[in-house]
Order: sequence, then C-alpha cells, then structure tokens
Amino acid sequence: MSNLKEEYDKIIEQRKKILEEMKPLGENEIVKRYMELTEQNESLFNQQLSLYKELKMEKYASCDHILVYSQIDYDRYEGRTYKSCGCIKCGLDNSVLNGDREWLSGSRQIMYDYLRKNRIYNKGIASEVLCDLDLAQAIYSKIKQAHPDIDDETARKYFEIALDDIRNIKVSDDRKASRAKRLSLKDNFKRWNSGDVCSN
Ligand SMILES: [Zn+2]
Repeated sequence: MSNLKEEYDKIIEQRKKILEEMKPLGENEIVKRYMELTEQNESLFNQQLSLYKELKMEKYASCDHILVYSQIDYDRYEGRTYKSCGCIKCGLDNSVLNGDREWLSGSRQIMYDYLRKNRIYNKGIASEVLCDLDLAQAIYSKIKQAHPDIDDETARKYFEIALDDIRNIKVSDDRKASRAKRLSLKDNFKRWNSGDVCSN
C-alpha cells in the first residue's frame, strides 16, 4: 500500500514539473498556432467521420442489392441454422448482427447501425450462392469493370458463372495466390469454397 502511495505522489510531482515547463511554451506564437491547427484538424476529422457514416448509409439505402449467403452458422444447442446475407455490390453484410457492436471495426459498426433499422432483404435480387463476401465483391467489381452498364440480373448470372469456374477448375496454390492478387484479395486468401463460410 505504501509503495502505491509513493508512486502516486511521484507521478503528481512529475506532472507538476511538466505543466510548469509547458506554461511558457503556451505563450509562444508557433506553439499557439500549432494548437489552433490541431483543434481545427480535430473538428474537421469529426465532421469527416460523420459524413463518412452518412455516405455509407446512403450507399446502403440506395443499393439494389445482389445478395449471397455470406455466413452459415449452425447452433448445436438449438439445432437451428442461421444464414447471414451480404450484398456483392455495396458490401452490406448482416453477419455483423451476430456479435457485439463494440467488437466491430468502425465501418462494420455503421453496417450494424444501418441494419438495426433496415432489413437487408427489402430490395434487390437474392442468389442462393454461399460465398465469402470479400471474394464475391471482388468478382462483382471485375464484372462491373468489364461491363460498366450491366444490369443486375445479368451481373448475378455472370457472377455465378465466374464463381463456378473458380471453384471447379483445380489450380495449384501458386496459381491461387496470383488469382487472389488479380482479384485484389490478400495473397493468402483461402476462402474460395462454399464450405468456407460455414461455421461447422
Ligand atoms: Zn447492396
């Protein structure tokens, strides 16, 4: 206990010294300008974040989704299967609802908030395909690059054909790595098959 108290007092002493040293610096014009700019930068950053959130929400709301099954979970205790859907166009993925919001990254928290209010099934086409969503989005963006004016139904067909080819044509691990690169996926991408999105 006394050790803790000693340490506590030492820290107070150290901070006092630091604050004393900081005081004259705060009067310096260059330092003042630096503080001003830091403040402006923080305020702009906050505006940027909130606009980013609005932009994402708008993108999700205006997308006519093409959905695939992005994750299949089997609950042993309930004996039930839960299917999550994701959109190969905008990336909206309702598997984010399976866990705690606070464990998600910032952009997945935006999806979470959007999906709490809006259902993913409301608009668009549902494909029965099971596919990792990063892979599905990568294939879709290649199709869109080659055919910018493609309609959704045709895009869905092309997507399913491209995915079938990927899954049915046996290639070496090296070729898989270069294929991942071509699709702008990570070199070590492994989730090529439908079984890869199933929890069991
Ligand atoms: Zn979408």
